[in-house]
Amino acid sequence: MAPDFLASVCLGAMVTEVLQNYLGGRWIAGAGSGAALYDPVRGTELVRVDSSGLDIAAGFNFARKEGAELRSLTYRQRGEMLSAIARMLQGRREIYFEIAQANSGTVSNDSAVDIDGAIYTISTYAKLAETLGDRQFLFDGEATPLAKEAAFQGRHVLVPTRGLALLINAFNFPAWGLWEKAAPALLSGVPVVVKPATATAWLAQAMVRDVVAAGILPVGALSVICGSSAGLLDALEPFDLVSFTGSAETASTVRSHPAIARRSVRANIEADSVNSAILVDGEAGGGPAFDLLVREVVREMTVKSGQKCTAIRRILVPASQYDAVADAISSRLSKVTVGDPRNNRVRMGALVNRAQYVAVQEGLAQLRKETKILHDGASHDLIDADPAVACCLGPTLLGAPDPDRSEIVHDIEIFGPVATLMPYRDEAHALALARRGQGSLVASVYGSGAAALSRVALELADSHGRVHVVSPEVADVQTGHGNVMPQSLHGGPGRAGGGEELGGARALNFSHRRAAYRGRR
Ligand code: NAP
Repeated sequence: MAPDFLASVCLGAMVTEVLQNYLGGRWIAGAGSGAALYDPVRGTELVRVDSSGLDIAAGFNFARKEGAELRSLTYRQRGEMLSAIARMLQGRREIYFEIAQANSGTVSNDSAVDIDGAIYTISTYAKLAETLGDRQFLFDGEATPLAKEAAFQGRHVLVPTRGLALLINAFNFPAWGLWEKAAPALLSGVPVVVKPATATAWLAQAMVRDVVAAGILPVGALSVICGSSAGLLDALEPFDLVSFTGSAETASTVRSHPAIARRSVRANIEADSVNSAILVDGEAGGGPAFDLLVREVVREMTVKSGQKCTAIRRILVPASQYDAVADAISSRLSKVTVGDPRNNRVRMGALVNRAQYVAVQEGLAQLRKETKILHDGASHDLIDADPAVACCLGPTLLGAPDPDRSEIVHDIEIFGPVATLMPYRDEAHALALARRGQGSLVASVYGSGAAALSRVALELADSHGRVHVVSPEVADVQTGHGNVMPQSLHGGPGRAGGGEELGGARALNFSHRRAAYRGRR
């Protein structure tokens, strides 16, 4: 790693590298010794991050002022920059996989969800730019006559906001989380300042470091602050944006900050969610739809050790199928190998750190009050990992035989490899249980009859940002319950945060201001 982007700090006999921040068009170290990032399997310290002492207000002003160059370009030109970023990141992919394995404890397939997902998302927005062409603003709808014979008329335009976009991300997607927000903002012509979650900031910082070094973007278009979030929201001004992903608790702090509450900084919130998977009534036990549900649940519970905001947390099945589904999922889960992702035999790596490991154990203890264990994660021996050190946990399937009487299974999001199976009486009951999540990012529905699938999907649409419908015909091509695709909306109502991201060109709305023009024809 190039030493320019690192500072060093002596902690007793140990010297640890401290990642630098990129703000105000230069690499700059924090004033303190910072916070440590760890290998969650081996427990070793990797690097440190520190943002103390940065002049955030001056850095934000620099981004707003210098970022104006980005705004002066066309969508096509900015799209070409995104293409160059995607190519450059692709070329350094192996380095990012190494960082992910060390810092996130993920197996290669799970790192790919983050890293390749990021590159795919950037490429998708680069392609979208070609359709927007050599323009600097967008029309929104057609002109509408406002006077007789249309002598006076109105039309709406979308222009990039003149502020910056502050992107605050969760720990579970340091690469994808950065780029799914940054690509639409940069394509819109809005400079971005990225604040990755501390636990996994290394990967995001490395990607920004490489983009800056490649000189692809105008100075000021991309900045990164690694470390504490203190002072970031205070420095926001009315035309800025904040796009937040994280827990509902931090989301409420962000929402109530004066920048948002009083200065009307536009905020998008992606928070936690208790997503469901539903097997429609009338499917045969062991039939194709049944198998598709079982496979998808196991995948969702184990990919990234269940640390995905879209992961399946509740599995709703007809009461007659409850035991058969419990057996089928448990049987597959028992084969999942857990431990050090450096060992090729390991299918599921670690939780991100000790704090998350403890949080998952505490959540499990809470859910245990209302549920039975159907498959116990503690039954999995760890491969090449010391249980006293490694933040590795086997997948656990819980059962809530009387879900109407359960409260917390519909409320607590355990951010780990845990899901709860529950029986329903009829379709209306299944829908009522799904809605007890109070607004979710995604629900998936499994069945073979088109009428039942479309009826259930439509009923779920008002309380879910995405409904993923799986029938045997799409078994080999469906994109996966938890996979966020840049072409489809990501976000959800209610407790999921009420936000909207991605969805193709829809994502540009957030970074543009809409104005009504009225004048002569
Ligand atoms: P978190 O603790 O809420 O932190 C999220 C981000 O907010 C981090 O960058 C954090 O920085 C920052 N932050 C903390 N306090 C802040 C404050 N007062 N003002 C501004 N920023 C602040 O969440 P997490 O533990 O990283 O992520 C896990 C949660 O994210 C889960 O609940 C999951 O469901 C949710 N999530 C949702 C989505 C979605 O798209 N809906 C996607 C992924 C994850 P530090 O790390 O430095 O504290």
